[in-house]
Amino acid sequence: MHRTILTLITEPSDSDTALAGQMHRVSAGLEELQFRMRWTHRGEDAMAVVGSDASLAAVLVSWEVPGADGLLRAVAERFQRLPVFLVSSGEDPPLWVYEVVQGYLYPLEDTPDFIAGRIAHAAERYAEQLLPPFFGALRRLENHHHYSWHTPAHAGGVAFLKSPVGRAFFDFFGERLLRTDLSISVPELGSPLDHTGPIGDAERNAARVFGADRTFFVVNGNSTANRVVAHHAIARDDAVLVDRNCHKSIQHALTITGARPVYLVPERNGLGLAGPVPPAALAAGAVRERLAAHSPPAGDPPYAVITNSTYDGLCYDAVRVGELLAESVPRLHFDEAWFAYARFNPMYARRYGMALDDRTLPAGRPTVFATQSSHKLLAALSQSAMLHVRPSERAPVDYERFNETYLMHASTSPLYPMIASLDVATAMMDGPSGAFLTGEAIVEAVRFRQAMARLAERVRADPGRPDWFFGAWQPPRVTDPRTGRTTDFAEADPELLATEPACWTLEPGASWHGFDGLEDGYCLLDPIKVTITCPGADAVEGTLESGIPARIVAAYLGRRGIVVEKTGDHTLLVLFSMGITKGKWGTLIDALFDFKNAYDGGVRLDALLPGFGPPGASLREFCDAAHGTLRDSDLGGLLDRVFTDLPEPVLTPAECHAALIRGGTERVPLDELPGRVVAATVVVTPPGIPMLMPGEAAGPADGPALAYLRALESFDLAFPDLAADVHGVRRDPGGRYLVEVVRR
Ligand SMILES: *Cc1c(COP(=O)(O)O)cnc(C)c1O
Repeated sequence: MHRTILTLITEPSDSDTALAGQMHRVSAGLEELQFRMRWTHRGEDAMAVVGSDASLAAVLVSWEVPGADGLLRAVAERFQRLPVFLVSSGEDPPLWVYEVVQGYLYPLEDTPDFIAGRIAHAAERYAEQLLPPFFGALRRLENHHHYSWHTPAHAGGVAFLKSPVGRAFFDFFGERLLRTDLSISVPELGSPLDHTGPIGDAERNAARVFGADRTFFVVNGNSTANRVVAHHAIARDDAVLVDRNCHKSIQHALTITGARPVYLVPERNGLGLAGPVPPAALAAGAVRERLAAHSPPAGDPPYAVITNSTYDGLCYDAVRVGELLAESVPRLHFDEAWFAYARFNPMYARRYGMALDDRTLPAGRPTVFATQSSHKLLAALSQSAMLHVRPSERAPVDYERFNETYLMHASTSPLYPMIASLDVATAMMDGPSGAFLTGEAIVEAVRFRQAMARLAERVRADPGRPDWFFGAWQPPRVTDPRTGRTTDFAEADPELLATEPACWTLEPGASWHGFDGLEDGYCLLDPIKVTITCPGADAVEGTLESGIPARIVAAYLGRRGIVVEKTGDHTLLVLFSMGITKGKWGTLIDALFDFKNAYDGGVRLDALLPGFGPPGASLREFCDAAHGTLRDSDLGGLLDRVFTDLPEPVLTPAECHAALIRGGTERVPLDELPGRVVAATVVVTPPGIPMLMPGEAAGPADGPALAYLRALESFDLAFPDLAADVHGVRRDPGGRYLVEVVRR
């Protein structure tokens, strides 16, 4: 595992000096102890190793080599407690170096074996203390090779060996995964249900790292974490405040609890992206009005839930949200499925739930919950999630009682490698490496965004070329708050963009984002979530005269082996997660460039995307036809009406579900939908905000919901290859929509 030792010593030309000779003997000693030596002679080379090799076990540096100081700083920025030895020289290094360095080596005074032994000991201790509580305990236990008499019945994988197909499974996943798949009755590892032993230690470690009072590991996904929080906070018939842009799991929680949801509606822009719920809608007066208008009038809500950040990377000033909602609710839940890294980079200061504490919000703050899909943007296995709690005096949390709700949703046989992955995801964010890893993703995203902006400028400057047309959704100009100087995004200092939140906040009224009703600093566009814009829509104006539907571009990228996260009418979302490698995005830009050339060059659709769209048309003709239909059907304008004029709630989600399981619902086509109560959540992506929720009235034939669904259905029928992603409607064999409704 950690067996690499990096040395930055003398030039090879000096290798006949006494010092170099002695260091080679030290190195031979270390190699005998199974360490691998990586020799470098220039500061830059050594820094490249530090930046890319996480298997380092120790670093040996001589201070005289130019760049030694840079190397030591790079080590301190990335690693916690990595042993660094200074190879002694006459010179005294500056004081800060003493903080980084663990010891000195005197190659001309001590024996090579002694020096090698000292380094090896430090390296081994480092590797041992790296392991967080649960992963460490699991590894030690695995080394002991116990016989197990408990479930799972495969007993460390042995059962699989008894069958040919089982053998294939065993060989594929490997013995170690199977050996560490243990039952909760193994006492050495503690209890995931009572939060004791190494599992409890791991959760406490996570609470420290994520800034929570208590952290619970949840291995049934953040969906389950959401249901636990809501189920803890809501009793039957409680009115609760729910971000309309919420995940399905919140909807399920409302069904389980018998809640009466009162929705907080986010902004949308002309690109069809969902923005934040504006501050005015969260203020106490506005909330009171919404509750009073509800039928039956709703009482004081015990709970509110906000999605932060949004899918498209818009993140709130969470402290401001807490302040606004403090008067209305004692418990505030941030669904941070896409945002577990927020605490580890100053870019996101104040923008995550656990940033709300007695210091940032001294008076009467609500109890805060944050739930995170650790697997989505940290390095954890799928389904692994965390639930963080920070109680307040207004709504104290008795953790034993809280655990009753936790147990209602927990499995009694969680997969331990998943728990280990949560423990490791936590440790990876601890200390300097959290800022290092998140910073690296931000830097790559900034490079990509600037490359896109520069490419547009270069193409524009080339008179022989038709104008470039893809863009990245971001402020076109940024201001350095220290100097007050404003520059084009493409020309801005990359360091400024990678570190200055003010470059990314949505200034009220700015036309690049197109959202109304914002306050200064209220909302920030996360640099790592990049929306690529295709021509045809504008953040303020909405759909334009001509354009290119993003689904065609996404289909082309798919053929090139590039899978985007999400596709809208004129937008594509790509994520710069910690898994990004340098230059991975170069391929994406190249593919966009090729698409553009094919479009300008009149390439036929069937040559570019065989089997896609009507035969015979050129790419450009197909884009024109599809965009023209999108534009004429005014889907954007119709969708705006859907969210301005929310449907009337008739039944609670729980009542609706009761009808569903008792045969009290049926599926009807759109022409029978007017006047009915829907029994499904109908969501169109984008914006991904539900347009109809279970128990809501579909409204009249000329109402917003039906007008929109009819327009969308006709678009889908005309362009089946570009059909929108509509959850909650089924299609009959002719492609017509069917919606689940409550029987009359
Ligand atoms: C993905 C997601 C969830 C659910 O998380 P899982 O870990 O997939 O169960 C919850 N909320 C939001 C906003 C999500 O995007």
